[in-house]
Amino acid sequence: MKQQTPRNIEVQRKQELLNRIAPGLLTWYDKSRRSLPWREEPTPYRVWVSEIMLQQTRVEAVKPYFARFMERLPDIEALAEVDDDELLKLWEGLGYYSRARNLKAAAQQIVTEYGGEMPSDYRELLKLKGIGSYTAGAVSSIAFKQPNPAVDGNVLRVIARLLEDNSDISDQSVKKRVEDDLRPVMPKDRPGDFNQALMELGATVCLPNGAPKCSNCPWQEFCLVGLHGTWQQYPQKAAKKARTIEDKTILVIRTSRQVVLRKRPKRGLLAGLYEFPAMDKKASLEEVR
Ligand code: SF4
Repeated sequence: MKQQTPRNIEVQRKQELLNRIAPGLLTWYDKSRRSLPWREEPTPYRVWVSEIMLQQTRVEAVKPYFARFMERLPDIEALAEVDDDELLKLWEGLGYYSRARNLKAAAQQIVTEYGGEMPSDYRELLKLKGIGSYTAGAVSSIAFKQPNPAVDGNVLRVIARLLEDNSDISDQSVKKRVEDDLRPVMPKDRPGDFNQALMELGATVCLPNGAPKCSNCPWQEFCLVGLHGTWQQYPQKAAKKARTIEDKTILVIRTSRQVVLRKRPKRGLLAGLYEFPAMDKKASLEEVR
């Protein structure tokens, strides 16, 4: 009989755990899924826009933005043609405005290069502005039923806990490895539900801050962190770089009816948005005058 090396045992154990995740997860999702506007009518356009809005933003905060966006820009053509200022107004308050600009640029690509139809192929989706492996996986699986994983921070956390994997989840190679691990265990008949169920588990049960609700989890019988109570150690993440702090003096220059605003440059932080003029330092009253 072939003797197993420790590495083989580790890989085999991991595979056994991964092979167990789909059935219970889907049964749990069928009972627990939240009804969300983009879920109930998962057209490629709606899935795409919602996934971009949901990056860095909570579901509840996204809902009114999504409704307004769909009302004003109901399809890819409308998005491709919208005026920049109106687009930014629709996005105002969601933050990370490059997401909105990339949406429009990708809509224009779809109109000129794909006849106005969102491509269904994962690799074609990756060619669109602002679409990375997560969004390509989400759109291709949810809207086109293709078995591509959609791995974001929530999914990385859940899988790291399942396997007690101490890899640094901010490392892109770890993300790629998790995508490769999930692809073969995705049920071919429900890839979109599988991805959404993983995201839902991360958002509502295997929580990012504080203790996970393991007693509500479909994996409680085999998840290693659930069995060992080691959730505080997983996932592992390298410390973020310290934020840069800049001093500015904001100038509010106004008459009784008007105020001076300027438009920021087309590139860089808050590109193209309006702002009060500012001096790049903490200025004294004398300097301002
Ligand atoms: S059992 Fe607990 S730690 Fe494991 S995936 Fe479920 S909620 Fe997360």
